[in-house]
Amino acid sequence: MEGDELTHFRRVLRERRQALLDEGDVPIERIRKDPSEVGGDEDEQPLTEMSQALASSRNRARAAELKQVEEAISRLEADPEMFGLCSTCEEPIARRRLEAMPHARMCVACQSVVEDPVKRGPRKKLTDFV
Ligand SMILES: [Zn+2]
Repeated sequence: MEGDELTHFRRVLRERRQALLDEGDVPIERIRKDPSEVGGDEDEQPLTEMSQALASSRNRARAAELKQVEEAISRLEADPEMFGLCSTCEEPIARRRLEAMPHARMCVACQSVVEDPVKRGPRKKLTDFV
């Protein structure tokens, strides 16, 4: 990739990284231990645990995306010509896919094979034809 497209995706990736950094981690509510804070509502505890679980899974997803975006920025700077090409088949990744997910490393076809090996179907063995 080169020229305007490269400039475009460099900007998109940097903005995404900044947005993720600005967003920061969702604060995880502590479970109240002070007896004076505990009211008569016994249903409150499970709710707090659920919101903790939600917050921590949100934080994990954010950290994972940030890592992918940073990797994409490094790839783009290290080897701009290869940016936007599938890391597996080296065909160009569809522009609309890159717009939606500028850190994508693989084209849709290769990605679907990685994510769902079942789609590859059974390996043909010589004995299948006997
Ligand atoms: Zn591919």
